[in-house]
Amino acid sequence: MDIILYAVPGFLLLIIIELIAEKVRGTNYYRVHDSITSLAAGILSQLMKLLHLLLPFTVYLLIYEHSAVFKLPDTVWVWLLAFVVYDFCYYWNHRLGHEMNLLWAAHVVHHSSEEYNLTTALRQTSGSFLSYVFYLPMAVLGFDPALVVTVGALNLIYQYWVHTRHIGKLGWYEELFVTPSNHRVHHAQNDIYIDRNYGGVFILWDRLFGSFQEELDDDPVVFGITGAVSSWNPLWVNAQVYAQLMHDCWHTRNWWHKATLWFRRTGWRPPDVAKKYPLGKSRLADFEKYDSVMTPIMKVYSILQYAVNSTISLALIIYLADVPLIVQLSVIMFIVVSSLSLGAYMEGKRYGVILEYLKQSVILFSPMFFTWSLGLSLVLVVTALMGVSILIKSQAIGAIANPEMNT
Ligand SMILES: [Zn+2]
Ligand SMILES: [Zn+2]
Repeated sequence: MDIILYAVPGFLLLIIIELIAEKVRGTNYYRVHDSITSLAAGILSQLMKLLHLLLPFTVYLLIYEHSAVFKLPDTVWVWLLAFVVYDFCYYWNHRLGHEMNLLWAAHVVHHSSEEYNLTTALRQTSGSFLSYVFYLPMAVLGFDPALVVTVGALNLIYQYWVHTRHIGKLGWYEELFVTPSNHRVHHAQNDIYIDRNYGGVFILWDRLFGSFQEELDDDPVVFGITGAVSSWNPLWVNAQVYAQLMHDCWHTRNWWHKATLWFRRTGWRPPDVAKKYPLGKSRLADFEKYDSVMTPIMKVYSILQYAVNSTISLALIIYLADVPLIVQLSVIMFIVVSSLSLGAYMEGKRYGVILEYLKQSVILFSPMFFTWSLGLSLVLVVTALMGVSILIKSQAIGAIANPEMNT
């Protein structure tokens, strides 16, 4: 089982602590729709890994078996070395993830939130198909595949706690390691902070390769990206930049640009397409966070539905080996559609409400497939009935009928 799963209770505990800090300090760093979008993207990311991790693992294994210059032994020093080397590879993966159109299309998800809290850390991509290439040198150097998977998970777990606004600068620790302060800079859309601080665990790489920027009191961080994603739909958050690149590729008349726009500097567009279809970029001074009106009962409904989705997803990941392939794929499809519908519901879209009713009907009838478990069937029926009754009360259609309520 993925080591990251063992960290989930710790992730939840830290979110609870951050929410308590939010209450005590009277800060306003959380919004329900934003956090649910982040968490839903995290769940989707873990589910998609089930589908596309086989290829990277196979390629790594083949290189390790046939082309490794050494076979490094299983010692503490090799583990420590692997941890450092992995972070070095991560730095370049992350840097190119910001500097190349195609890789940015995958990484943008993590930066699409305009808030910065521990849920932002879990807003991970579902479409990172190429990043494994950056770790293949570790196979050539002879790092055992299982070791690389473990240090990769530890690296990701380390990055969790730095996604908070509640911790200030940490003295000497800032010099060597990634911290909340220097990672806040990384999530900023202020000119001075863009494309800075790529390290995962060690900020040392940024200092060495000229990409470091300190958080400045005179320049408070504005979180998010310059071309806002403006959606609570985690599928669209994943697809938006890919869709933009495909649009540009399709419309440009220059064949060289069609082939190369994917690999050019992030933001580069073929001149003919950029002229014909300009993208509006707001000035930082005019920046307003994307928002939509959610009544308290809509918030309750959305939180409960996210809880249902995440419980089903975690159960699938934990019991994967015992679940037939057709059920695995059905559950993944259910979560994908369910995430889309919840996003649309939170945006106040009418089709989101209709999809939510359809989803509750599916849950209501699903006990037919679980006749062997009376307990599970009862839970499903109760969940669906509760969902429908809150949905009726949630006044979502009322909110939609008043367009001025939603921005
Ligand atoms: Zn980044
Ligand atoms: Zn981050």
